[in-house]
Formats: sequence, structure tokens, C-alpha cells
Amino acid sequence: MTFGASALAQAQEVDYLQAANTEAALLRRAWLQLQLHRTQDALDSAARVIFTTPPPSAHVEAFARYVRAAAYRAQGLAERGRFDAQRARQLAVDPELQRRLRQLPTVAARPGAGGSNSAHAGAVAWSDLRIQRRGGWRPQPPNTGNLDPMQRPSRVTIHHSAMFFQSTATRAAATQISQIQREHMNNRGYGDIGYHFLIDPSGRIWEGRQLRWQGAHASGRNNIGNIGVCLLGNFVRERNGQGPTPNQIRSMEQLVVALMQRYRMTGDALFCHSDFKSTACPGPRMAPIVKQFARELRARRIAAATEEDE
Ligand SMILES: [Zn+2]
Repeated sequence: MTFGASALAQAQEVDYLQAANTEAALLRRAWLQLQLHRTQDALDSAARVIFTTPPPSAHVEAFARYVRAAAYRAQGLAERGRFDAQRARQLAVDPELQRRLRQLPTVAARPGAGGSNSAHAGAVAWSDLRIQRRGGWRPQPPNTGNLDPMQRPSRVTIHHSAMFFQSTATRAAATQISQIQREHMNNRGYGDIGYHFLIDPSGRIWEGRQLRWQGAHASGRNNIGNIGVCLLGNFVRERNGQGPTPNQIRSMEQLVVALMQRYRMTGDALFCHSDFKSTACPGPRMAPIVKQFARELRARRIAAATEEDE
């Protein structure tokens, strides 16, 4: 039924399904969006099926994972869909789906990935991460009397800036970050910009508040030992939203892995702002990506532990 031919033109059917929210309609929509090369929409629709509460049946998850793997491949990011493809192969019982999964080429892990300490393909060591220095966005000096020392980092929380922002220019990002600092210091009374890191749409990672200071991004005690990472952009579709760029996601993953290795954290330590309070942050187009990445980090760690046991 998900793969079936349609009496309506595909584009028309997608519009028709836009209003529907049932699992079956979302799955069908994801599949059609993939056919129409609307890969980001296909990823979004499939994510809505996978990351619901309660979780979908194995059968439904397998279909949705397949769509994600194929959509990532169509974006030239097959590596990112590797976990989806693996999981779909484990879960698939439908013969047509199994056939399609066999046709989907297997993506090999890059050398160096999958070991007990390199939790993610494309992982880079902390010292190799390219981070734009704080001075690059001309910050106001922090009000250190209003800052608390950071305790040992034990978690990482992902945010969006909630402001539409698409520029890939270095200078535009720097201006945007200094505006966020002004808002945080002048209007909210923080001692400095609230986030430790910011990631612009081209994937540049910028230093925000220095890591020796506790952040101000997750409310009160939730900030203790909590590294705040903000992706520039507004990932709430209904409010003039946009999607995170592939470069932004890749940098987020590299930064998170490097931080986790540096401070010996696991996938359990990766959070969305919305895990701490009722907020849309980091937005419906980002939260499922964070959730999946956390699962992937957990799964890889278990796989690594099992190898060591044998
Ligand atoms: Zn937030």
C-alpha cells in the first residue's frame, strides 16, 4: 500500500495527504516525496513516523527507515543513512521492502569508525576540530561576576536560535552571534552569551561562552555540567521555518562526538532543549535528528562493548 501506484498524480496526492496525520498517510507521503526528489520533506515525514510516542510497530519502522536511508543516499549523504538501512534490514518482513533493501547498496563504515572509542564515522579528535575563536564575532566582554564556574561536563544539549538564518557568509554568522549575545546580556541579564558553541548553516563551529563557565541555556540547575550547542536557524516549519543544512548536522555530530570522547560521555548524555522544559527548541526539523544520533551513539557503544567481550 505504501509503495502502490497512485490514481492521482504524485504531487497532487502529496498535497492531499498533507492534511492527514495517520501513520499510514505519513508513510505514504514520505514515499511519494522521495519519488518526487523532495528528499528533505521525505526525511521529515519519515522522522515523524519513527520518533513518535509510543514507538511505531517494527513493520512500520522498517518502511520509514528505508525511506530515510534512500533519501540520505539521494542527497549524497549515504553514510548518514547507514544506521537506518541496517535497522530496516533487521526489522523488514514485507517481501517487497526486503527486495528494495537488497537493492540499496550497503555503505561501508569509514576506516577508523566503529572502534570502541571512535563512536561515529567521520568522528574527529578534539584537537582536529576547527573552531572559530570567540574573538571572531567581536563579543562584548563577559560580566564574570554573573558567571558560575563550569563543573565537569556530563551532558550536551542542542538548541536552535529560533531566528530564520540562511547565510553561509562568515561575517553574517559573526553578526548574528553577537546579536544573540546582546539579547542574552542586555535583555535577559546573563553574564555572557548563553551557549558554549554555535554552528552556522555552512557548518562552521563558533566558540560562544568559554567552557570554563557554566552555560545559560537549559534553565537553572539543568545548566550544571551541561554544554550548550546552538544551531543558527529556525527549525519550526510553521513559524517561517527552515531545515538544518547537511553541513550543520555533520558539524553538530562531529562536535558532539569530540566532546563525548573528551569528557567520556555516551549517547545517554545527548539532549534536546525540549527534554528539560516545554519548548519547541530545537524544532521539529532538528529534534528527530538529535534523537536518532543519540540512539546511534548508544547502539555503537553497545556494539563496541560486545566486540570486546568476545
Ligand atoms: Zn533552546
